[in-house]
Amino acid sequence: MEMGSSIVKTGRWLGGTLLDQLYPPVCLSCDAPVATADALCSQCFRSLRSITAPLCPVLGLPFEASLGPDARSAEAIADPPPFERARSAVVYNDVARALVGKLKYGDRPELARFCGRLMAQAGHELWGPDAVLVPVPLHRVRLFSRRYNQSTELARALGRLTGLPVDPALVRRRKNTPHQVGLSGDARRRNVAGAFAAHPDSLRRLKGRRVVLVDDVITTGATIKAVTHALIKGGAERVDVVSFARVVTGSDA
Ligand SMILES: [Zn+2]
Repeated sequence: MEMGSSIVKTGRWLGGTLLDQLYPPVCLSCDAPVATADALCSQCFRSLRSITAPLCPVLGLPFEASLGPDARSAEAIADPPPFERARSAVVYNDVARALVGKLKYGDRPELARFCGRLMAQAGHELWGPDAVLVPVPLHRVRLFSRRYNQSTELARALGRLTGLPVDPALVRRRKNTPHQVGLSGDARRRNVAGAFAAHPDSLRRLKGRRVVLVDDVITTGATIKAVTHALIKGGAERVDVVSFARVVTGSDA
């Protein structure tokens, strides 16, 4: 018994040492050596641009200067979204793009943990006790080829940090829409129109809860608006959105 546990301990010690020697921790974005795992090097961390107050209370877009507590962005006034509030952790720039790319196409759960920590801070106003986290779904064909949905990974990381439940089946993608990259705002809207549907049993699953939709990147907002419409159709009364990154026009992306 004693011998067994010391073998286990030795094994664990050897395992840890060997792992560190074989795979010394590297920056999540650029692979430069770093002191601790699940982190960015200091240069990449400085390049990451957090979105903090002052910001539009509806769209979460950063303001250059504070315009007062209830001042909305011109975008939110011109085209009010179906969701109540959107919050994003960082501006979608080169470092954010590298992180999201690795999160999407590589099997890197430590990235979801890192992004989740920043999203938990950015979305702090949204973590009421009645909230349920719902990832923006991938179509099953794309899910099969990628093996996992990056937004589900982010929602699970957020669920662990906030203690909120995650319901990845509340809304599904019924149309395998082409990639949105390179499409204009109007084309994006047409592309995702009717692409999502709430679960037939969504009302019972929601039980009066507020939805916090989880996405990796907000570009024009066409996708999150389409998902919100599907959720409202399915009986959701309030929908908020949180993303890791967001395209901010006029910023040095
Ligand atoms: Zn780096």
